Amino acid sequence: MNRRQFFETLSSRVAPFSLASLLFPSLALAQSERPRITDIKVYRMKTQGETGVMESAWAPGQAYMRSIGGGTVTEIFTDQGISGIAPGMSPAGINRMKQLLVGQDPFDNEALGHRMRYTNGAANNWRDVGCIEIALWDIVGKVAGQPLYKLWGAQKDKVSAYSSAIQLSTPEERAELAVRLKEQGWQGMKIRLHHLEMREDIRTIELVREAAGENFTIMTDANQAQSSGIWQPGIQWDFKRALDTARALNDFDVYWLEEPLRRYDYAGLAELNRATDITLAGGENNQGVQEFVEIIEKQVYDILQPEILVTEGIQGLRAVAALGLAHHKLVIPHHGGGQLGTIAQLHMIGTWPHCPWVEIMNDPPISPYTNGFAILENPPVVDSEGYMVMPQEPGLGVRLNRELIEDT
Ligand SMILES: [Mg+2]
Repeated sequence: MNRRQFFETLSSRVAPFSLASLLFPSLALAQSERPRITDIKVYRMKTQGETGVMESAWAPGQAYMRSIGGGTVTEIFTDQGISGIAPGMSPAGINRMKQLLVGQDPFDNEALGHRMRYTNGAANNWRDVGCIEIALWDIVGKVAGQPLYKLWGAQKDKVSAYSSAIQLSTPEERAELAVRLKEQGWQGMKIRLHHLEMREDIRTIELVREAAGENFTIMTDANQAQSSGIWQPGIQWDFKRALDTARALNDFDVYWLEEPLRRYDYAGLAELNRATDITLAGGENNQGVQEFVEIIEKQVYDILQPEILVTEGIQGLRAVAALGLAHHKLVIPHHGGGQLGTIAQLHMIGTWPHCPWVEIMNDPPISPYTNGFAILENPPVVDSEGYMVMPQEPGLGVRLNRELIEDT
């Protein structure tokens, strides 16, 4: 009997086990004990009080009541008692996702992600794919006993957090806020540029720089890419406004100008980029890696800002990060929703050498960042030096406060 015949005989005698499982008994054990997905649920979380009415700078006239906690959460269960959590997916999509996922191994998330993208095409609900992927990875991390950023290959244990306000306010109030944030340890803040008159936007930045001093990073955001079309409420910038603003900001050491023109005005954005010295940032509303390929090819933005729930989940965000790295761009994701999406992105940032900041939605006193994280027993915090430390428990590293799950 030659060597090949020996192995063939051996293989046929030990069917249905593979030769590998015979030679490595632990592998056979692992295969038989692989976790299987059993169910998917979406919860509404109780709010723990209302904090006041506020409107976003890009949606004037659409103020609504802000709360502590609240929102929705997705949970995926397995037959091993381990479950994973994520931002709340659309309840309408649950049955379709169950058909795809129940009985599957959550470790096969790469294959499952591609299948979800295929079957989800008609519904065009990319947010759901992102939610499912986050929950699957939370399971994987918990089974492995490692926080996700370590599992994926850690690059850093903490990252500078910047305070991102959604409100438009007076120049004086923004300057006062900058001083308070700096006293708390924050290293930077983002300010909305949505005043009807450009001079009021510029005065805001001037007063903030004056009040905060030199060692404080100022980001600016015009939010002109909210619509996939050509209209949005509030002030709409044309090329001249964008150019004049970009040039005026140069006097105040502004780190970046975000979304100065419409989402798909790639030619205008590239022209603006060529004509100014300021760093342009954007991408939070761009969906999928393909749009970022075009953004890079056309020299649209210097800093890419993909968002996990828009750019097709963990697979999508990872692809954009690799694309950015290969083209020497910084990749600083959009906030990810302020709850579990932000935390999933925090772990991804922990693996990236080209991401120096995490965006944290923070609008004190009505909507401090702690409001969104109030659904968690062990929320991440911005420390006294302005850093957010990567969660250290397995998976996403955060636990849901189950007393806050609303009865269904
Ligand atoms: Mg933005």
